[in-house]
Amino acid sequence: MTASQDFLSSLTLLYVEDDPDIRVHMVKFLSRRIGNLVIAENGREGLEQFYAINPDIVVTDIMMPEMDGLVMAKAIRDKSRDIPIVVMTAHNDDEYFIRSIDLGIDRYVLKPTNPRFLIEAVEKCAQLLFSNRQKEEANRYVRFLLDAQPNLLMVITAGCVEYVNHAFLDFLGFSSIDHFNEVVKNAGDLMFNAEGRSINEEGYWLDLLMGTPEKFSIIYLKNQQSEMLVPFALKTNSLPEQNRHLFSFIDITHIENEKRQLETQAFTDALTGVCNRARLQGVLEAELHRARRHNLPISVILGDIDYFKKINDTYGHQVGDDVLRKFAKVLRENVRIEDIVARWGGEEFMVVSPLNDVNATCKLAEKLRRLIENERFPKVGRVTCSFGVSQAKREDSIRTLTERADKALYEAKTQGRNRVEKYM
Ligand code: GH3
Ligand code: MG
Ligand code: MG
Repeated sequence: MTASQDFLSSLTLLYVEDDPDIRVHMVKFLSRRIGNLVIAENGREGLEQFYAINPDIVVTDIMMPEMDGLVMAKAIRDKSRDIPIVVMTAHNDDEYFIRSIDLGIDRYVLKPTNPRFLIEAVEKCAQLLFSNRQKEEANRYVRFLLDAQPNLLMVITAGCVEYVNHAFLDFLGFSSIDHFNEVVKNAGDLMFNAEGRSINEEGYWLDLLMGTPEKFSIIYLKNQQSEMLVPFALKTNSLPEQNRHLFSFIDITHIENEKRQLETQAFTDALTGVCNRARLQGVLEAELHRARRHNLPISVILGDIDYFKKINDTYGHQVGDDVLRKFAKVLRENVRIEDIVARWGGEEFMVVSPLNDVNATCKLAEKLRRLIENERFPKVGRVTCSFGVSQAKREDSIRTLTERADKALYEAKTQGRNRVEKYM
């Protein structure tokens, strides 16, 4: 016995026939093969039985009292699109054929019927039913596996979203795949790039996702609850023979956060929280380039705390550190947003002032000098600072510019400290 024959013995078949002789004859054959055979004597009774027992296959005569077989078949089709219906008829009549085709009758058996033909027709229906149920079973199994995964998974078949798993639905705030399909007409609408722009702006989403993995390996999706864009690493698996693709979106929020933290750490002076020298180098390079290209002024201030060694010697290193922290805070809080404050080293700080010429920058340095002078530092009291200012020339490098600022600073020191000097 094959698996599908075995399957036949597990099925319920509704057999509708008004002629008692034919009925008895056919039932004899059918009952040997079919697990559960239910019999009705006309269309109305057949329909009642259909509703009551929900059979797997229906076999029916056409011409019957009370309700004919095709009227019954139509009512059954309206309820169940997939149930196989076999029609037995003596009417080799075009009109019946056309009505049958319209109803989606699966098989036709002409009367007088050799029971073998009926069995064959039923077996064919059962085979189809069997393979469909196996497919459904396989689908259910695959979906179960997809739903059990914590990553957001999307199955694309022939360019359409066939399935998104529970994690994905939850993330987007949909209750079911049907809900998803109802609302989402273009899956590209859900996806954004690092700048927060819809990837639709860059082309057809499916081509983009499939095309350049290095460019699109990070995709942002909007969380329905928080409305936040969340970064995901995208992995694509293809099942080309079925024109099917599995997209796995792996949440990389924690990795991105760590990366950002490390970047911040790498570019920040740990003691004072302002830019460190490495960061300054990069930013100043870019600013000098920009100023040169657009023919804009840019200046730098180099500040060096006066007699700082004495502070350390008198109050200890810890107090010296507190002075540096507070000093940096005063600078940071009293420059424009586009100015860059950096620790140049030890007790020396640099302020980069884009768009300012040397005179405007001297005014800024003078303002800072006065603020420091008037600030009271814990334990130490009054602290002063000397400043050297220089404006960039077209041919300047970072080194040549800071050399001039350093000369100006040296001048401020030798002129008595707590003052601003410029070097053209
Ligand atoms: P001047 O007025 O000529 O600038 O004299 P100064 O004493 O400030 O200059 P000097 O270069 O002789 O001394 C700077 C001191 O700053 C020496 C060094 O130990 C101290 N220093 C450098 N970095 C730090 C730091 O991170 N914390 C503390 N507490 N001290 C530091
Ligand atoms: Mg110094
Ligand atoms: Mg000093």
